[in-house]
Amino acid sequence: MTTTVQTQTYLNYINGEWVASVSNKVEKSLNPADTTEIVGYVQKSTEADLNRAVEAAKQAKEKWRKLSGAERGEYLYKVAHVLEKRIDEIAECATREMGKTFAETKGETARGIAILKYYAGEGMRKVGDVIPSTDSSALMFTTRVPLGVVGVITPWNFPIAIPIWKMAPALVYGNTVVVKPATETAVTCAKIMECFEEAGLPNGVINMITGPGSVIGQGIADHEDVNGITFTGSNGVGKRIGQSALARGAKYQLEMGGKNPVIVAADADLDLAVEAVIAGAFRSTGQKCTATSRVIILNEIYEEFKQRLVEKTKEITIGNGLDNSTWMGPCASEGQFKTVLSYIDKGLEEGGVLLTGGKRAAEGAQANGYYVEPTIFDNCTPDMTIVQEEIFGPVIALLRVASVAEALQIANSVQYGLSASIFTTNIQHFLSFVNDMEAGLIRVNAESAGVELQAPFGGMKNSSSHSREQGEAAKEFFTSIKTVFVK
Ligand code: NAP
Ligand code: MG
Repeated sequence: MTTTVQTQTYLNYINGEWVASVSNKVEKSLNPADTTEIVGYVQKSTEADLNRAVEAAKQAKEKWRKLSGAERGEYLYKVAHVLEKRIDEIAECATREMGKTFAETKGETARGIAILKYYAGEGMRKVGDVIPSTDSSALMFTTRVPLGVVGVITPWNFPIAIPIWKMAPALVYGNTVVVKPATETAVTCAKIMECFEEAGLPNGVINMITGPGSVIGQGIADHEDVNGITFTGSNGVGKRIGQSALARGAKYQLEMGGKNPVIVAADADLDLAVEAVIAGAFRSTGQKCTATSRVIILNEIYEEFKQRLVEKTKEITIGNGLDNSTWMGPCASEGQFKTVLSYIDKGLEEGGVLLTGGKRAAEGAQANGYYVEPTIFDNCTPDMTIVQEEIFGPVIALLRVASVAEALQIANSVQYGLSASIFTTNIQHFLSFVNDMEAGLIRVNAESAGVELQAPFGGMKNSSSHSREQGEAAKEFFTSIKTVFVK
């Protein structure tokens, strides 16, 4: 699929209008599969632009809050329908902006549509409980109210689903929104905003502002009129946002990195495990927060599993995500690409042995892209940098263990706790994994990545601020509880 793309300039969306930044500056969004292609220009906004957006959201919040949940939900159904009409175009844009395959971005857009519909329905579900009072002549109940203005700060790796899984519940529970997408994927977010515009949301209810994270992201965290901040991204940035929000008493939610293990027990279905490790590690070029990055394998099956894994990995086709024959696209940006290559160097320095991959792929059409081969390290030990730190690329480390108990101990010996998988047919192993694994998402005989939108999502330890997103859990963050006593 190749179409000629005209390089367009995208504006901020504030108070129902598309407006340029007062800075008169733009930033480019590049295609990581071919960096000679500029996907679009986005506004390099300033604090003054942010103030306008927050003011618009603040002005809109009273009216929006006073609509019924069903009325707010009706708007989300409309956004879902617009997005359905534009699914191919928006998926293609996301592939151009951040490189993952069209099949993946289309699947992600379909998920965005399902999330919008789920939360549209949420507008009609219960928001409180009746609690028996000790006073028999009184009525006591809880109800929920919106936070007010919610700031949404999102990463580039799921440029469609993550903004939507934050904005849809924020809106349906009665908040107004200022979203600041990752600069890498700001064009895709602008297109999502167009869908909200077409659905006719009242002015100011949803606003998008693009620009540097250090100015606009930090500005949202510091802004006194932003009542809640929901962030997904790296640990360093998340921790700072949390501190800023805490300092001024705003509610915040952080979903951050992962270092997700897969344990392959001796009794595992190896075909299933090989397939799941490959999908978990290399789909999206390893750039999922739930991607598999450590594979902990029982001694008895280590050699056989390793051989099958390497064989299958060598079959992976790398290329432009818009090409149907591509299984794995490039890293999303130059920064990501360099980080991944430097982790590979570090892995070699610390004694890792390459089984496959380990290099940039730059043959033919790949010369202008940020391609890295799917990479597997053998001979890894728990203390190695590539076993401890999040790489966010197509790199896995294999570790050999003598028992499932040892595997669990290693699996838990990192700062993160997002998702974790075990492959086993033994009920004891299954039970000890469910009980002892320190992760917010526990997966048994399934890849480490993959979540369902109606279930709570989030991590333990340094992966999260211990809140949860999606499903009903979103209600906890996007509302405050009022306890009402009536006599
Ligand atoms: P990032 O660099 O932390 O950026 C995330 C967002 O924060 C972007 O919008 C970014 O804007 C903004 N930002 C950057 N610096 C900032 C600052 N000083 N103050 C406030 N905001 C700032 O993360 P990323 O590289 O986009 O995403 C990859 C990370 O996200 C990985 O660690 C991954 O594990 C994590 N992630 C976690 C989950 C989860 O649910 N747990 C899901 C997906 C991804 P700019 O783009 O303008 O810099
Ligand atoms: Mg890009």
